[in-house]
Amino acid sequence: MRVAIVGAGPAGFYAAGQLLSAKGMSIEVDMFDRLATPWGLVRHGVAPDHPKIKSVTRVYELTAARAGFRYHGNVEVGRDVSHAELAGAYHAVLYATGAAGDRKLAIPGEELPGSHSASEFVAWYNGHPDHADHQFALDTRRAVVVGSGNVALDVARMLAVDAGELRCTDIADHAITALAVSEIEEIVVLARRGPAQASFTNPELRELAELAGVDVVVDPAEATLDPASAAMLESRAAGPATKNNVETIQRYASLRPAGKRRRIVLRFCISPTEIVGDERVEGLRAVTNELVVDDRGRIVARPTGETEVIRAGLVLRAIGYRAWPIPGVPFDESSGTIDNRDGRVTGQPGVYVAGWAKRGPSGVIGTNKKCAQQTVDLLLEDLTAGRLAMPSALPTTLLGRLRARGIQVVDYAGWELIDAYEKRCGERHARPRVKLVRRSQHLFHAAGPAG
Ligand code: NAP
Repeated sequence: MRVAIVGAGPAGFYAAGQLLSAKGMSIEVDMFDRLATPWGLVRHGVAPDHPKIKSVTRVYELTAARAGFRYHGNVEVGRDVSHAELAGAYHAVLYATGAAGDRKLAIPGEELPGSHSASEFVAWYNGHPDHADHQFALDTRRAVVVGSGNVALDVARMLAVDAGELRCTDIADHAITALAVSEIEEIVVLARRGPAQASFTNPELRELAELAGVDVVVDPAEATLDPASAAMLESRAAGPATKNNVETIQRYASLRPAGKRRRIVLRFCISPTEIVGDERVEGLRAVTNELVVDDRGRIVARPTGETEVIRAGLVLRAIGYRAWPIPGVPFDESSGTIDNRDGRVTGQPGVYVAGWAKRGPSGVIGTNKKCAQQTVDLLLEDLTAGRLAMPSALPTTLLGRLRARGIQVVDYAGWELIDAYEKRCGERHARPRVKLVRRSQHLFHAAGPAG
């Protein structure tokens, strides 16, 4: 049996490992990715100052070394090869394409220069080839980050830490150069609800206190819980993570700023209503919220009508991601995911989805293991029940067609050449690697000395 997996990030690699080790089955996995380089979110999403999280790639390397695994990088499904062509060459196609798009605030001024999605900023500092030429307005004293999840904390931290501290990481060189001359002194993080509803995880929130040269500031009034949240915290409804977050936020509120070089200000119960500026972002108009319990029992934000303008030259929205639709694959616009039921793509037997493209952008990297297993189990169930159609073409025919279309397909050995080159460059500067950030560089190094 042959399975095509589209997307070489965590969900794709977990699914590949599970398929290749399925008991009593002989399965071959061909993995495709639009980039020459694998690891998806681990390479282009995880913050450079979190190297431990990135070490998960060792598990994926073991999967890649298994018999029956083949990698085809630099192939974009929907552009270089159609979904129908892929489906015709494999018994099953499993999409693990993540969530590379972003959600919009849908407020006036959102398109002004200086207003970006956090995903663009993250991809830029992580050296994603699509974002290597982006520029961010760092010639401003204040930046605003909208959202109260871990991505908001990641981007706030990257704006706040001294660029010198990042020099030993695998951050893209262009980002170190730009961040080294950043004039930003204050990063304001806006949460539309209260401390008890923030989506930060405990270690990421606590980590802010450990940043050298950075004060963490919270207004005690905003750290005080509203009656509904206080009652929720007292009840069994609140887990330890919520309680820990509230405690940390209230501890930050009790601290006196030490006048360090930069400040991260966590604001609560405040929503942006407009990004203001003529030629570029000059500030953000925001409304204070009160928290109320809606008819479904959820604690939601309700604008009070009291507004303020926060002067800032850079606004990053970190309010969640969306998957990119793939031509020929049903897409659910409301959730921003591939339309599916537990991983089976709606109305397309033999087509599956795992990871963020399946369930939306939630959980940590390890969450994708369980998510992929659920999908793989259904795929194997369909196989055993004879529900998968025989392919009408061979993968070699498909790869031949790609070559005829002028696509330089990068195999795993090609990626290993890129990887070795990046690591060699890193060794000279005591860094894990120096990332190549251009597609042309990837293709050049993947071709090897003979290429
Ligand atoms: P997230 O955790 O879902 O947080 C999104 C935030 O955006 C929420 O606070 C949400 O507030 C807010 N939001 C949504 N719409 C908004 C609007 N219109 N106006 C204002 N605020 C709005 O998503 P994320 O931060 O993008 O992270 C995605 C996933 O990756 C999460 O599971 C996260 O834990 C994970 N991640 C982990 C790490 C790590 O482990 N170090 C790092 C980065 C990301 P409401 O709750 O009020 O909707």
